[in-house]
Amino acid sequence: MAVPKRKTSASKRNMRRSHDKMTVSAVSECPNCGETIRPHHACGGCGEYRGREVLTVAED
Ligand SMILES: [Zn+2]
Repeated sequence: MAVPKRKTSASKRNMRRSHDKMTVSAVSECPNCGETIRPHHACGGCGEYRGREVLTVAED
């Protein structure tokens, strides 16, 4: 099995990890019910997309 010849230095390790950060996912508010929604997706709270009801949401 191939094995690293040298220990990765703290500098090289940190350079590699500089790209590891998480990004904040895009969110907005439903104009109909105020629920947090993802762009280009129907609202999970009221089932509306661009002012039109496209889903039947179970209400219990
Ligand atoms: Zn909604």
